[in-house]
Amino acid sequence: MKAIKNAHIIAKDLNIPRGYLVFRENIIKYGSGELPRDKYEMVIDANQAYLFPGFIDIHFHGALGIDSMDLTSEKIKKLKVYQAQTGVTSFLLSTSSASLAKIKSNLEQIRDNMSPNCGASLLGVHLEGPFLNEEKAGAHNIAHLRDYEETIFKDFYDIIKVISYAPEVIDEEIVKLKDYGIKLAVAHTMADYELGKQVLKSCDLITHIFNAMPSIHHRRPSITTAALLSECYIELIADNIHVHPAMYDLLFKLKGDDIILVTDSIAATALGDGEYTLSDQKIIVVNNIAKLKEDNTLAGSTLNLMTALNNFIKQTKVPLTKAIEYVSSNPADFLNLEDRGRIVENLRADLVITDLKQVVKTIVSGEII
Ligand code: FE
Repeated sequence: MKAIKNAHIIAKDLNIPRGYLVFRENIIKYGSGELPRDKYEMVIDANQAYLFPGFIDIHFHGALGIDSMDLTSEKIKKLKVYQAQTGVTSFLLSTSSASLAKIKSNLEQIRDNMSPNCGASLLGVHLEGPFLNEEKAGAHNIAHLRDYEETIFKDFYDIIKVISYAPEVIDEEIVKLKDYGIKLAVAHTMADYELGKQVLKSCDLITHIFNAMPSIHHRRPSITTAALLSECYIELIADNIHVHPAMYDLLFKLKGDDIILVTDSIAATALGDGEYTLSDQKIIVVNNIAKLKEDNTLAGSTLNLMTALNNFIKQTKVPLTKAIEYVSSNPADFLNLEDRGRIVENLRADLVITDLKQVVKTIVSGEII
């Protein structure tokens, strides 16, 4: 049994300015004040730093020079450790549009490397593309965009947790995937308001709101307007580049209970400026801004969730007790993960100790990374 003392514990519906937490694989107990006397194999002194539930990143294409479309066991291990170092304890790997053979070979790599080892837990796949609208392809290579057929990824429905697709170009049969427990997300779309309103009744998520979809227009509402009025969860890339921070305020007012902060980070993340690849697209990163070399289209981010959380709070002044939901309980609820995302007895000990600038320690299912 291990313990953390002197921590400012913050999670959904929880704020203990000076508290302790006792854990094995799961959280045993927590409370305010001094750590109760007992035999602990290890006591971590948080020195008044924050103790949060571990972050959950549902949209992540890579980091450290590793692209989710060119995976090996070794690379996936590195990504798990990298994610843990940024406070993430569970994540999905997001694919991007490529040939079917290439997507499938990477899905196989992901499946073979989902078992727990050192680092964050890899929960499965967020399939982004190839079922997208070429008019809003963003950094996806339009040569690989295609129509939906139920059979294409049938062998991978056990590991695909989310599919991002453009409803105006894809057969509505895709909603049957919900029977497999797959969450549906709208993305890279030009859908109008009427279609948006209709499809969002059966969708679960809006992928990177405001990016790769129509702008909000007062005479020509679109799926973006429908998204803000929907019951769906909403991904936000809060890097102050993909979305102007003023829009965080708007989003908070309209969808304050449904925001999920994501990184959408790519191979260039944590490496600095230079040239990289995203699937088969050439990317150039200048001042941490990643763009397609060809035409300057934004091409994913170099963000991590700690920075996203800071950016969001700095702009909106939302209390940490609320904002923490956007990186922990909301993504957990979205994915129907009842065993994590909060600080509650008997849930997984997925935790992060941080001063909000740096991650001091990350704990995944009781293991200190
Ligand atoms: Fe995207």
